[in-house]
Amino acid sequence: MTGVRVRFPPSPTGYLHVGGARTALFNWLLARKEGGVLVLRIEDTDRDRSSEAHTQAILDGMTWLGLDWDEGPFFQSDGVERHRAQAIQLLDEGKAYRDFTDPAALRAEAEQKGIGHPSVLARRYADEMGEAESARRAEAGEPFAIRLRVPEGSTSWHDLVHGRMSFDNADIDDLVILRADGSPIYNLAVVSDDAEHRITHVIRGDDHLSNTPKQILLYEALGLPVPTFGHVPMILGSDGKRLSKRHGATAVGDYAGEGILPAAMVNFLALLGWNPGDDREIMGREELIEAFSMERVQKKSAVFDLDKLGWMNGQYLARLPADRLEPLVVERMAARTVDDEIAPSGRPSAPVTMEQLDRWRAAPAAWREALLELLKVRVRSVDEIVDQAAPFLAPLHGYEEAAAKKHFYRDAPATAARLRVLREALAASEWTEADLESTVRGVADAEGVGAGKAIHPLRLAVTGRGQSPGIFEVLVLLGREETLERVANAGEHLNSQPKGTA
Ligand code: GLU
Repeated sequence: MTGVRVRFPPSPTGYLHVGGARTALFNWLLARKEGGVLVLRIEDTDRDRSSEAHTQAILDGMTWLGLDWDEGPFFQSDGVERHRAQAIQLLDEGKAYRDFTDPAALRAEAEQKGIGHPSVLARRYADEMGEAESARRAEAGEPFAIRLRVPEGSTSWHDLVHGRMSFDNADIDDLVILRADGSPIYNLAVVSDDAEHRITHVIRGDDHLSNTPKQILLYEALGLPVPTFGHVPMILGSDGKRLSKRHGATAVGDYAGEGILPAAMVNFLALLGWNPGDDREIMGREELIEAFSMERVQKKSAVFDLDKLGWMNGQYLARLPADRLEPLVVERMAARTVDDEIAPSGRPSAPVTMEQLDRWRAAPAAWREALLELLKVRVRSVDEIVDQAAPFLAPLHGYEEAAAKKHFYRDAPATAARLRVLREALAASEWTEADLESTVRGVADAEGVGAGKAIHPLRLAVTGRGQSPGIFEVLVLLGREETLERVANAGEHLNSQPKGTA
């Protein structure tokens, strides 16, 4: 394919949602693969629902995903004069006609007469009226819409995803192309603009399948070259229903705020309705471009699986060098920091305190890097790193309840005693992973219990949690002083428990 020109034409009536982003991505991949051009066009003709803020949010979403465009952004509203001129051209050529009827009255009449579509009546009235009378009434200032006169026959195309598609023209109504107020209808505007931008391939969601024959008829009537079409499948939620707010965040910007990496999002979106033909799942940008082809886009709808997005993000986080991860972690920490003045931004799962942030900033670079290396391999988002870093950055405030029941209170006096012994042994230990491991295991052996009986209470004592990365790595990063203090605090906590707490 040479000279491929594709387009992404969002309507700025909302944010860049997952479906739009996936369509943008497929167009981008095709353009990059073929050395073609991606045109960005903002379809802002719906004045009431469009806004500049949404336009900006869409541009930001594309930028975040790294989907750069080569031409535009163009604005559909800038082309209104051309759209009108083309409607008039069709009228002059007899390929369209004036409809002076009132739309609501026409609908009611069609319904009453049992006529399938009101345009049947509109055409009948236009034909009865004749061209001379129609022109006279227009001249006299009577308002009219312009309708395309759909010819007999059928309209077909070879769809890159669906194969041969064919519609009987009898099933296509004489669509309005210009409203009585002079505003163009989407099908005309999109054809006019795509032709103006010399688009060769229209790749869009299959919710537009029924628009395509109308658009092809318009290309033909206007004498414009018909582009190639490819309709990509819908995205459904895991319950099989069309993706909506119910399924969680649907705007890509929300995922940025939740610590999803753009590379992971791009990889995830690429696999919604497409696959490389082998079992590869983790694919970087270049690899996706290389592997992408419209032939491998599937017909059946794709399912948006949040779990998979989390898993994929985890894979990307684990591969990210600590020095590239750090700014992202700091950014999320800062966004989640609460003090009295500033409300948290983003979507914090737990607020980060100023103290934690300060400690992070004051810590030696090597320590921060080691902590990130430890945490990044077991999380699914940057925010989870922030959560898991918390015990390393501030004194503990209490212990996780379920874990404390199990590992602290079941036999509080015995656990307190064991923590005392552990503390003494740790105080005398070298502070390396290997030494700490043999120290802790030594205590368990000496007490005649399994290593878990020492490790679980110790983990809870130093992290406040039932789960953490490898305990010996945790101890190394926490340092001797902090560890000994936390173990002592846990012992005191247990001693202060009322007898018989279980
Ligand atoms: N503005 C339309 C939409 O957002 C464009 C559809 C198309 O690709 O033709 O659905």
